[in-house]
Amino acid sequence: MRIAVIGGGALGSACALFLRRFDTRVAVDVIEPDPGLRLASSARSAASIRQQFSTEVNVELSRFGLELLRNASEWLAVDGDAVDLGFVESGYLFIATGEAGAQALRDAHAVQRAAGAAVGLLSPSDLAQRVPWLRSDDVVLASLGERGEGWFDGYAFARALARKARALGALWHASAVVGFERRAERLHAVHLADGSRVEADAFVLAAGAWSRAVGALAGVDVPVFARRRTVFVFNGPEPLPRTPLVVDPAGVWFRSEGSGFIGGWSPGANEADPDDLPLDQPDLDQFDDRVWPALAHRVGAFAALRRTHAWDGYYEVHPLDHNALVGPHPRCPNLLLACGFSGHGLQHAAGVGRGIAEWLLHGRYASLDLTALSPARAAQGRPLVERAVI
Ligand SMILES: Cc1cc2nc3c(=O)[nH]c(=O)nc-3n(C[C@H](O)[C@H](O)[C@H](O)COP(=O)(O)OP(=O)(O)OC[C@H]3O[C@@H](n4cnc5c(N)ncnc54)[C@H](O)[C@@H]3O)c2cc1C
Repeated sequence: MRIAVIGGGALGSACALFLRRFDTRVAVDVIEPDPGLRLASSARSAASIRQQFSTEVNVELSRFGLELLRNASEWLAVDGDAVDLGFVESGYLFIATGEAGAQALRDAHAVQRAAGAAVGLLSPSDLAQRVPWLRSDDVVLASLGERGEGWFDGYAFARALARKARALGALWHASAVVGFERRAERLHAVHLADGSRVEADAFVLAAGAWSRAVGALAGVDVPVFARRRTVFVFNGPEPLPRTPLVVDPAGVWFRSEGSGFIGGWSPGANEADPDDLPLDQPDLDQFDDRVWPALAHRVGAFAALRRTHAWDGYYEVHPLDHNALVGPHPRCPNLLLACGFSGHGLQHAAGVGRGIAEWLLHGRYASLDLTALSPARAAQGRPLVERAVI
């Protein structure tokens, strides 16, 4: 069997790694035009992991992501080298300031607890006691991850996955897919920008924010849209204890990063979210207009913070339900999608890579059932809405 993986970010690399780990007879070609991952979301991420999702499959995917991060050397070492992904275990803190938000936290909490996640709901007085430097007088309810959440080095993670996949025998092509050979419903080969051609029995589309464009080359619609997100780096005037990753109802998040902080803003459901803005032009006005006011409201000391720099990257958004598309495309059964993660793909790369490999090798999911993420769900009218989107 021969599999071509399109995209060599965290997702494509994880698919290649598990394919070769499970069966060394499978030939795996990874096609990646930007081996240094200059524009890839995997290298521009806030690289955090949480158990606090509103859908069970996402909690379960994070559980496996956590296993890999906690035991990185076991999973990713090559020639016995220790692998350090800089994993810091620290919870996410979701805040609700209205009854609707509080109910959403309670609903998600029930899903998380049923899936075994260590998450606690905090009243305003609990919150004031646990996180005294945070404004809590307008809070109705908060949800704090007690274990199994935190952040890591996303670039190192993506590189370690790729390095391990190569060590297991996956072959990298430093070129872009520019066309497909398709007969009836099935794909047979890809054409690359360097003039070469790669034949395969099945193709995995893991091209992140570029997945829709690559899908169009194969003649199929992949409803994944590139949305620019900016991450701001700042210092506070006085040291705080290491913060959780705080998600404020104003759409703003922040967390500790080294001795300073990072944070950003995500548009809500009713706000325009322009597609495909150019990268390397972080939206600095957003900091003054959106981020800083919300930070200063939530943490008094942040009124006097200093922004030092910023970077941007693409979320690859699946707007129907803000959940990933994983599995065969309904109009092209040997094109497997692994894209559309809507801001939570890095932490789910390992679980989805494992699932895609199982599906390709055995025709079914063995470790964790990912059928809820099937791309067929839109046509079948059963979206899987993720409410805890950042
Ligand atoms: C600012 C920001 C913050 C984020 N925070 C988090 C977070 O805290 N936690 C989390 O889990 N996730 C987070 N994410 C999301 C996460 O980074 C992505 O979901 C994940 O990295 C997607 O990985 P990928 O491999 O699918 O895509 P990418 O890493 O983008 O890789 C896709 C690859 O496809 C390649 N490609 C493009 N066109 C072609 C072609 N024609 N042929 C072949 N290859 C092609 C590209 O070169 C690219 O390297 C964040 C993202 C951003 C931008």
